[in-house]
Amino acid sequence: MLGSTGSIGRSALRVLERQAERFRVVALTAFGSGELLAEQAVTCRAAFAGLANGGPTSPRPRGVRFAAGSESLIEAATHPDVDIVLNAVVGAAGLPATIEALRAGKRVALANKETLVMAGDLVGAAAREGGGEIVPVDSEHSAVLQCITGRRPTELRRVILTASGGPFREWAVERLRDAAARDALQHPTWSMGPKITVDSATLANKALEVIEAHYLFDLGYDAIDVVVHPQSIVHAFTEFVDGSVLAQVGFPTMELPILYALTHPERVTDDGAPAFDPIAAGPLTFEPVRRDDFPAFQLGVSAGQRGGTAPAVYNAGNEIAVQAFLEGRITFAQIGEVIGTVLDEHDPEPATSMQTVLAADRWARERGEALCCSA
Ligand code: NAD
Ligand code: MG
Repeated sequence: MLGSTGSIGRSALRVLERQAERFRVVALTAFGSGELLAEQAVTCRAAFAGLANGGPTSPRPRGVRFAAGSESLIEAATHPDVDIVLNAVVGAAGLPATIEALRAGKRVALANKETLVMAGDLVGAAAREGGGEIVPVDSEHSAVLQCITGRRPTELRRVILTASGGPFREWAVERLRDAAARDALQHPTWSMGPKITVDSATLANKALEVIEAHYLFDLGYDAIDVVVHPQSIVHAFTEFVDGSVLAQVGFPTMELPILYALTHPERVTDDGAPAFDPIAAGPLTFEPVRRDDFPAFQLGVSAGQRGGTAPAVYNAGNEIAVQAFLEGRITFAQIGEVIGTVLDEHDPEPATSMQTVLAADRWARERGEALCCSA
């Protein structure tokens, strides 16, 4: 499991504890939380633990092989005893391990959507080359997968991803401009890591998910819609060629999509998800996305439509801007402005190699950082 100390990683460990008869944790990685990682490795009796930031890995429990540095993600992801790699790393750092795991023929249960946004075609090629497969963990994409499993791909006409609308769904645009990080970090329905929580406030997360859906389900952008659904009960709608629409519903929990990504196409007995109660779920409402007020959404969808290196540049510009916002260096409104400028200045190239993608990512980070410093 990559990113075991994060929000998804910790949810996944709860799932795996319940499902200990079915799954064994072989390898874990984290970035800077060496102590928690060591504790997790002992609890799970993992054989391997990798600390990506290369810092001290003490305490070092016996029986666990420790490695440091970003290469340790690849070592974990290609470990010979591993069948399924849960990639729960945040950001671009998750890409190389996804590619190598697919080349090594593993199933990648993918929470790290940035992987597909940056290099969807290369990820697909790696899966074909090595016989690996991607199964989404993202709740909306898990919902689509659950609705289409058992159907022929040609039967699917359109998907509608739902978005909670984030904490600023009802804020007037003037108030939004200077929204504080502490407000952006108050997600109404999900508890997640800081980066994706800010992405949910700007709606960049939903743009990343549109691109993710394009690659996962081989759908054109005109076949992927988004609707705001503040209750986060319906995770996605799938429309078939005969006009019939299926949805997957439930109280928000990531434990169910995590488990499904491990067992797809099977379902196994599990009591982790709260029992559904339509009356307690209350009235379900749907609204259009406020595209003009949340520019990061449209910028992302347009970058996806442009293709090539544009989505990687969008992703990198967003990662840099979100970090600067969290550190108080730019305002909420400047997140969209930084992404927009970086994209305007970029001439997309076909994303035919990792070198091209990583060069575009590097350039966008440097340019984004410079814009944040002068903001
Ligand atoms: P998080 O910030 O809570 O955890 C991130 C994990 O990644 C941590 O274990 C951290 O140690 C590791 N990490 C960070 N930088 C790294 C680096 N440079 N190298 C190696 N490891 C690194 O984030 P999260 O909320 O768990 O989200 C993880 C991923 O899952 C993101 O891509 C997010 O978009 C996606 N996702 C999350 C949720 C959710 O409910 N949290 C839902 C859907 C998708
Ligand atoms: Mg999601």
